[in-house]
Amino acid sequence: MIKSVKNLDYEEMQEWAVSKGLKPFVGRQIFEWIYQKGIHSTNDMHNISKNVQDILDEEGSLVLLDLETQEISNDDDSEKFLFKCKDGYAIETVLLHSGHHYTLCVSSEIGCAMGCTFCKTGDMGLKRKLTSGEIVEQVILAKRISDKTISNIVFMGMGEPFNNYAEVIKAARIINHEKGLNIGARHITVSTSGIVPYIREFAHLPFQFKLAISLNSANNSKRSELMPINRRYPLDDLLSAAKYYTIVTNKLVTFGYVLLKGVNDTAKDAHELIEKLSSIPSKLNVIPYNETDGRFERPSEKDIHRFLTNLENVPFAVTLRFSGGRGIKAACGQLYHEVMNS
Ligand code: SAH
Ligand code: SF4
Repeated sequence: MIKSVKNLDYEEMQEWAVSKGLKPFVGRQIFEWIYQKGIHSTNDMHNISKNVQDILDEEGSLVLLDLETQEISNDDDSEKFLFKCKDGYAIETVLLHSGHHYTLCVSSEIGCAMGCTFCKTGDMGLKRKLTSGEIVEQVILAKRISDKTISNIVFMGMGEPFNNYAEVIKAARIINHEKGLNIGARHITVSTSGIVPYIREFAHLPFQFKLAISLNSANNSKRSELMPINRRYPLDDLLSAAKYYTIVTNKLVTFGYVLLKGVNDTAKDAHELIEKLSSIPSKLNVIPYNETDGRFERPSEKDIHRFLTNLENVPFAVTLRFSGGRGIKAACGQLYHEVMNS
């Protein structure tokens, strides 16, 4: 792991200060410089003595990512950033504009080990997990580069957040911390393909982060075909963990459903969804498939409408979502980058 105090949370930063013979408040000051003021050069930390600046400089870089490219979509104002990590790997971060809000979609890993058949990131395999510092820095840099106020964070970029649980939760805490980026916990959503033990653990966190589950089929064998993780944690176990989350937290769970033409868009698929989800306090986001490499097809407007008609008057909210950034290959499932080892 690349050495940096950027991988420390608020408490660890104070412990770090003490370990260097400094007072805990120095750790708090540094934390505020980095996150509240967005400063990444020790020289600019005006209330920090030269001695402390030197100690900090010896601790490794305060810059973990460099901007490689920035693309802005003509059709919907979304922006895609390609950041390069210090070991040469590239990650993608997408800023989405919805109404008056900006939502940042962050990556949690370089590639993904889950191998979902419809997802371009899955094709990459897992290169490595990101550190909490690298996750949080996506937010800091996207804010600085775009000059936009980011009000929501979704862990829906590259990677499976629950395959990198500890770093993802640490990052979410720094993003949420009032001395950190101060984004409300209810505005931070973690999306998982269904790693059941961590769904249960997530339910008990003393923070109000939200949970999304990429469901994509309410039929066990079909889901196993689409998402290999379903062979390890079958549908019924996943749904009982989802229900457990809603009971423990008293919150809704959001299910994502990528609509694939002729695969999971039939009336039978809709009825299986109704059967499985009706007893779970939930919302369903239907996302028409963004075409990647021709393995699947995007349903027509008529097919989408027909599918939604089957889901009228169900006891959970159904929303049709068009993911932003298709023109710049920044939409759900299109995040992919060849390894860039420089
Ligand atoms: N690994 C986590 C977080 C990534 S979220 C997860 O799977 O939940 C990426 C989201 O994009 C997932 O909900 C996934 O189902 C969706 N997705 C993947 N490929 C897609 C595609 N080609 N078109 C539309 N959505 C896609
Ligand atoms: Fe990984 Fe999520 Fe893509 Fe599946 S959908 S391969 S879990 S990023």
